[in-house]
Amino acid sequence: MTQTASRPAPASIQIAFDNSYARLPPHLFARVDPVPAPAPRLIAWNAALARDLGLPEAPEDARAAVFSGSALPEGAEPLAMAYAGHQFGGFVPQLGDGRAHLLGEVIARDGTRMDIQLKGSGRTPFSRGGDGLAWIGPVLREYLVSEAMAAMGVPTTRALAAVATGAPVWREQGQLPGAVLTRVAQSHIRVGTFQYFAARRDVPALQALLDHAAARHFPQAEGAAGFLRAVVAAQAELVAQWMALGFIHGVMNTDNCHVGGLTIDYGPCAFMDAYHPDTVFSSIDRFGRYAYANQPQIAVWNLAQLATCLLPLMPKDQDAAIAEATEIVHGFAPLYETAHGTRFAAKLGLADWRAGDEALLQALLDRMARLGADFTRVFYGLRTGKAAAEFREPEAFETWAADWRARLDAEGSTQSDAQARMARANPGIIPRNHQVEAAITAAVAGNDVPFHRLHAACTRPFDPAPEDADLMAPPRPEERVQATFCGT
Ligand code: AMP
Ligand code: MG
Repeated sequence: MTQTASRPAPASIQIAFDNSYARLPPHLFARVDPVPAPAPRLIAWNAALARDLGLPEAPEDARAAVFSGSALPEGAEPLAMAYAGHQFGGFVPQLGDGRAHLLGEVIARDGTRMDIQLKGSGRTPFSRGGDGLAWIGPVLREYLVSEAMAAMGVPTTRALAAVATGAPVWREQGQLPGAVLTRVAQSHIRVGTFQYFAARRDVPALQALLDHAAARHFPQAEGAAGFLRAVVAAQAELVAQWMALGFIHGVMNTDNCHVGGLTIDYGPCAFMDAYHPDTVFSSIDRFGRYAYANQPQIAVWNLAQLATCLLPLMPKDQDAAIAEATEIVHGFAPLYETAHGTRFAAKLGLADWRAGDEALLQALLDRMARLGADFTRVFYGLRTGKAAAEFREPEAFETWAADWRARLDAEGSTQSDAQARMARANPGIIPRNHQVEAAITAAVAGNDVPFHRLHAACTRPFDPAPEDADLMAPPRPEERVQATFCGT
């Protein structure tokens, strides 16, 4: 598919693009240019990421122009990727980038090939009824949360820039300021990308996609089975990290499930405040499909969809291929158990995860759920010795803590050993949902200061400063965010 919209004037930023996705068979995407913004204004710029990508220094107006889609740098070959997906369990054969433009790829300083993609940059052939735009709410939310995830060591897409477009966007709430996010990632290939071609029985396209995705994410993997095995392992690690941080993705549809094991598509995502395994934030998740505790099972379900897509690429008879794919997907559970044990051992300050530790953890979580204790503050409190204060009934914590100390003694760990392990596992600062909302509300009113302050704090999650106290506080009842709307 091609589009004839007039191409914006070239900008002065020299970017050394090398666009391998654009060289794949042309029906994997649609070539389409972003829509220029009337008055681009840079809200946020990730200078460290820009350096890692080897981007040259450039004046602010040039960055605003390029990263709003208003000026195309030489060598950019904008395209919208085709993909399908299961949304809340129902298959949609055509989704695709309805409001995103992949400008191209660059080779970062460490040698990694990285996509540079605009999101909110106008309509594409995949927009269906949508306007192709984003307002600053979801753009700033994604900027904050994805950069916080990166700072906590969670695999994720990154945020390079947020630019206000100067154009209005219409949503349920009325007229809102438009914005474009520049997203950077090792790729933007989703389970749904494979589903698009599997649903069309397009084996050559599937093969091209597999070769491309494997080269970018898992170059050691052999064949479709090896690739599936690597994706399963990466997803098991990823979801274990989410669970250890109290992170709820919100829309784990297969089109939001990245084959490289990155967190992608920060829509109605949030970190839990008060712990409860059934917590859901997304306003559209009425049945709790994507609740906190369901995330590992949903990941398996998504991986089973990927496995189905890869069957035609497995060089055996169909029954043998199904048996192998099934065995690989079933491999998620033990990998997840191990990753979960490793993560939660560190969160409890333990040297390793032994028989009985799951029960110790569960006993803590049960008390937290019963008393509405804050997930992040309790684990941070284990580091600082102030966890008891997080419980309405401190003795409920003290009875548990006696078992915890006995467990640490049993392995010969001192308090300082435990603290050293917890120091990089239990953050003090996360982008709390009510703070994200407050930053967005201020930005809509023209004040970006709360956004920048929260962002700065979230880039040092394990090392809170005294002035961060209010950002570490749980929401007051009136501040509690009940539902987070989809990132549109
Ligand atoms: P999401 O819920 O953000 O994962 O998006 C699901 C699908 O809807 C994807 O195909 C998006 O590209 C598309 N989409 C979301 N918002 C818009 C929009 N404002 N305009 C066009 N397409 C959109
Ligand atoms: Mg999506």
